[in-house]
Amino acid sequence: MPRGKPAGVPCVQLDREGRCRLYGRSERPLVCVRLRPEPAMCGSSREDALRRLERLERMTAPETSRG
Ligand code: SF4
Repeated sequence: MPRGKPAGVPCVQLDREGRCRLYGRSERPLVCVRLRPEPAMCGSSREDALRRLERLERMTAPETSRG
């Protein structure tokens, strides 16, 4: 996503199973390569992780898009 991934929008590189199509490839963004998952970010389930991600996206959204 050349202009960045907007909050609330899944990455275009996710396949139907929720896996990164770029994993292990040189085109994968450096921010993704460097990211280290941890319990505070991932929680205890997929649903928990999505709730946490949504909250993080809201907290870090530009002032104009916070609701
Ligand atoms: S690891 Fe990065 S490129 Fe891959 S799906 Fe997630 S956000 Fe997209």
